[in-house]
Amino acid sequence: MKLLFLGSPGVGKGTYAQVLKEVLNIPHISTGDLLRAESKKNSPLGRKISDIMLKGDLVSDEIMLEMLEERIAEKDCKKGFILDGFPRNLVQVNHLKNLIEISHVLNFKADDEVIIERLSGRLTCKKCSTIFHKTGNKPKKEGVCDACGHELYQRKDDTSEAVKKRLEVYKEKTKPLIDYFKNEGLLVEVIINKPISEIREQIITKVKDYLEGKTDKIGEIK
Ligand code: AMP
Repeated sequence: MKLLFLGSPGVGKGTYAQVLKEVLNIPHISTGDLLRAESKKNSPLGRKISDIMLKGDLVSDEIMLEMLEERIAEKDCKKGFILDGFPRNLVQVNHLKNLIEISHVLNFKADDEVIIERLSGRLTCKKCSTIFHKTGNKPKKEGVCDACGHELYQRKDDTSEAVKKRLEVYKEKTKPLIDYFKNEGLLVEVIINKPISEIREQIITKVKDYLEGKTDKIGEIK
């Protein structure tokens, strides 16, 4: 099953992908995580990527596509994967369609205030990228990841200037993809207006029902 997770930065794609990957036993590929790993290497490419990410801009399609192709060619992706943060524009969509057959596109939607609140309080694990929140989804022990015990940090691009730019880039370049996937009959709306636990249960149930052949489509989640 090859799922795409679409939606504004901060809407919760990573959080739900981490849940679903366990249930489906397929990897969660976050293109943001791939880029952060490269930028940590402090190579010329890594530094270039860091600068772009800090500004909240998109990394070039050329760099992104090369990294993605390499990742999905790995053995663990044979059964499928959850792609979070890709595609971000039409060039990436067209390229992806030549590489894989997309099963469904889950489009996560929330109000702008919810998104800003989530981004400003988001804490991410340095090791396994599990996501927490300063007030909402708090870790059991302050500053420490529940899943692997490593340190939590606030992403450098979760600062107000970069967030503003990332939301603008999303509206201009990525949001138009919603209509594109709707027309292709691949879109599943996920409306985030309930606690994480309720949305999580619904996603799991609906995806399982689809996989077990109880439904021929994953219906709207809200
Ligand atoms: P994310 O972790 O998905 O919020 O992504 C963080 C940053 O990584 C974005 O603001 C972009 O700078 C970059 N990025 C992630 N995915 C892509 C992509 N598919 N194309 C271009 N840049 C990306």
